[in-house]
Amino acid sequence: MKEKISLLKSLLDNPKKIVITVHRGPDGDALGSALALKSVLSNLNHDVTVISPNDYASFLYWMKGNEDVLIYTENQSKATEITNSSDIIFMLDFNSVHRVGEFSGILKNANSTKVIIDHHQDPVSEDADIIISDTKSCSTAQLLFEVLDNLGYKNLIDKDVAECLYAGIMTDTGSFKFNSTTAKTHHIIAQLIEIGVHNSKVHDLVYDNYSEDRTKLLGYCLNEKLQIFPETNSAIISLSEDELNRFNFKKGDTEGVVNYALAVKGIIFAIFIAEKEGVVKLSLRSKGDFKANEVSKKYFNGGGHINAAGGISYTSLEETIDICKNIFEEYKPELTK
Ligand code: 5GP
Ligand code: MN
Repeated sequence: MKEKISLLKSLLDNPKKIVITVHRGPDGDALGSALALKSVLSNLNHDVTVISPNDYASFLYWMKGNEDVLIYTENQSKATEITNSSDIIFMLDFNSVHRVGEFSGILKNANSTKVIIDHHQDPVSEDADIIISDTKSCSTAQLLFEVLDNLGYKNLIDKDVAECLYAGIMTDTGSFKFNSTTAKTHHIIAQLIEIGVHNSKVHDLVYDNYSEDRTKLLGYCLNEKLQIFPETNSAIISLSEDELNRFNFKKGDTEGVVNYALAVKGIIFAIFIAEKEGVVKLSLRSKGDFKANEVSKKYFNGGGHINAAGGISYTSLEETIDICKNIFEEYKPELTK
C-alpha cells in the first residue's frame, strides 16, 4: 500500500486531467466514492470529470457534484474525447473493465495511467497500472477514506465529501449490518460525523424517498411474486418487463427488494430476477458462508461479494427462474447444513 500511495502522490503533485469512472448502474458506494474523490482532487487544482457508463437511481442525485456527471450513453462523443485526453483514469468500485459495459472499449484503449480503487474479489491486473484493492473492506468509500488519509488529504474531506463517503459506506454495508462492517468502519463513520455529516439526513435521502409507484411495486413483489422454497432455505422474487412497466419502473425502484426475501425467517439464499432492457438481471444475496458470488460467476456471468452478488442471464425470464430452482437443488447440502 505504502509504495502505491507514494506513486499516486507523485502522479498527483501537479495539475492533471483526470477521469473518474464507475461500474455500470453505479450504486451509492460507486457514485459516492467517485464524487468524493472528484471534490478532493478538484480542490487540488486538477481538472476532473466523473463519467458514469449509464444513468443511475435518482435517490443518488443529491450528492454534491452530481449535476456535472457525464453519462456515457447520453453523451458518447464528449465522454470519449475527455477520456482520450486524460492523464489519469480512476476506476472506482469495480476491478475489471468489462463492468463498464459499452464504455469498456474506450476505457481499455485510453493511454492514461489507470488506477483501480476497489474492494471486489480478483482484480484483473492487466486492466490498471496501480491497483489499490482491499477485498476485506466493506466498501470502496471506506477504502477511499483510508487512501485519502494516507495521501495526506484528510483535511480536504469537507462536509459534502464526508456525506458522499458516508452514503457509500452506509449503502454497501446495508446500513452497517453486513459482516463486512468492522470496528474500523465505525471509527471512520465517527470521523465523518465529526466532520459534519447528519446521519439521519443521509439515511432519509437514500432510503426514505420512495415514489408511490415504487412503494406499490414493492407491495406487489411481496404479495404476489415472492416464492419460498423451504426445502432449500431459498427464495425468488421475479419481475417481467411488463410488470415493471405496470408500475412505471424507474432506475433504482427495485433496489433492496431482494433483501425482503432474505429477511424471511430461515432463508439463507435469495435471488431477485428482473427483465430489464432486453436482458435478465439477477441480484443474489446470502447469509453466512454461502457464496452467492460463486453461484453468480458459474451460472450468470457475474460476481461480487460472498453475501451480495449480481449477474446477467441471456435466456428468458422463465428459463432463468428454472435455472435458479435447479441451482437450489444442486446446492441443497450447503443450503440446509
Ligand atoms: P446488485 O445485486 O446490487 O446489482 O450487486 C451486488 C454486488 O454484486 C455488487 O457488489 C456488484 O458490484 C456486484 N455485481 C453486480 N452485477 C455484477 C456483474 O454483472 N458482474 C460482477 N462481476 N459483479 C456484479
Ligand atoms: Mn462497493
